[in-house]
Amino acid sequence: MKIDILSLFPKFFDSPFDVSIIKRAIDKNILDINLVDIRSFSKDKHQKVDDRPFGGGPGMLMQCQPLFDAIRSVKKDNTHVVYLSPQGKPLTSTRAKRLATKEHLVLVSGHYEGIDQRVIDTLIDEEISVGDYVLTNGCIASLVVLDSVSRFIPKVLGNEDATKHETFENNMFEGPQYTKPTNFEDKQVPEVLLSGNHLEIKKYKEKEALIKMKKVRPDLYFKYRLEQKQTKVKKVVKTS
Ligand code: SAM
Repeated sequence: MKIDILSLFPKFFDSPFDVSIIKRAIDKNILDINLVDIRSFSKDKHQKVDDRPFGGGPGMLMQCQPLFDAIRSVKKDNTHVVYLSPQGKPLTSTRAKRLATKEHLVLVSGHYEGIDQRVIDTLIDEEISVGDYVLTNGCIASLVVLDSVSRFIPKVLGNEDATKHETFENNMFEGPQYTKPTNFEDKQVPEVLLSGNHLEIKKYKEKEALIKMKKVRPDLYFKYRLEQKQTKVKKVVKTS
């Protein structure tokens, strides 16, 4: 997959790509990441990219011209252009998986009070939010999207099964995990995980995952329960 990241601060992204999984994916030519400096497209003699919003309000807004030119410089027929915005659809595992099927992503990172609405109306295919809070700029949000999407691109993780048991797959949490030593400062690994009984281990992990999910994400817990009930009803209808 090719990914262009448009921002006012391309340097911000320099080192996150020099480590671990993303670096390996770049080295293997699975990921092709290109940093685009929006400011370099400004036709203003001082390379200005922002101005005051019409109708008043605090702060500055990113102007049309540099953004139109920057996006058009990388956009092709197969391009999906995403604007990182607190007003976007929430980034979920499902959305990341869908974005991973795109051939070419352009991630537009905003700054100041955001970007001129005409950019959104004309050139943006989708607005995505990384959470219900406001960041100072879209660089971190672009990185979050890039990272979560990359995990779903074939061969990035090496083991294709790795994502299948992860939290949010089938609307579930992953169960608790432990590694050596079996006893650390009198804290013992649960016996069942050492038993070798795969069915019991699965049951234990599911039970613990559900307990945690009910406590910290009741919204997901009730969604999961509802889906379980609907699946059961469908099975009963099919067999009767
Ligand atoms: N004035 C905007 C508002 O209230 O909706 C917030 C602008 S924010 C300070 C500057 C930039 O950070 C945005 O243009 C966007 O690219 C990015 N940003 C901030 N919060 C974000 C979030 N939750 N998800 C994705 N991008 C975000």
